[in-house]
Amino acid sequence: MKKITIAIDGFSSTGKSTIAKQLAKKLNYVYVDTGAMYRAVALFALNNGFISEKGVDIVKLIEKLPTIDLSFKRNETSGNADMYLNGENVEKEIRTLRVSNVVSTVAAISEVRKKLVEQQQIMGAEKGVVMDGRDIGTVVFPDAELKLFMTASAEKRAFRRYKELLDGGESVVFEDVLKNVQNRDHIDSTREDSPLLQAPDAIEFDNSDMGLEEQFERIYNFALRIIEA
Ligand code: C5P
Repeated sequence: MKKITIAIDGFSSTGKSTIAKQLAKKLNYVYVDTGAMYRAVALFALNNGFISEKGVDIVKLIEKLPTIDLSFKRNETSGNADMYLNGENVEKEIRTLRVSNVVSTVAAISEVRKKLVEQQQIMGAEKGVVMDGRDIGTVVFPDAELKLFMTASAEKRAFRRYKELLDGGESVVFEDVLKNVQNRDHIDSTREDSPLLQAPDAIEFDNSDMGLEEQFERIYNFALRIIEA
């Protein structure tokens, strides 16, 4: 059967990764969570003291970029791929609000994007991949056969994220999560290098009021139509 590239972009917490994981499982494709890679670089910057109230020490971070090794390894318990930063499993740590609060600033640095985009293009070179992020259909794989763009209201998205964080044992306040979602939307959409944009040939999905099950069925059928054409 023909293998294709599926690019899923959109705002924070729109359920991109849930859909991407389901699609990859059903099609037996590789799933790549590019947000996890930006989060791991942000964690590296935090752990090395490159982030203060004054912002990110861009010069120091760029200097250390070649020493950052990112990889995904399958977690046999969850069945998903966990993010590893220089050999250490950081899957849980990269999802905390501490990292969420700085990741978009780190992701706006061109040198960081260049490094990660190159790695993502290698990971998807053989096709048969579902990749989610902000610039997959516009920059990483502009020739992807299927491009999706996910949206939902900021309140709905923040509430989903808030519940996830609580379920993960983090004590958070809803207003802080909402502020983070809105702030990341703003930075991601207005940055100079590869801003979050809907590719002209992407199909838009607003799932504010749509269940993820129903949405998955529709998206899966889109993919099948392309694969079987
Ligand atoms: O997808 P997730 O919300 O985990 O991504 C975290 C952050 O990483 C985003 O808010 C964005 O700033 C950045 N990102 C990006 N480009 C991607 C994926 C994520 O700039 N392809």
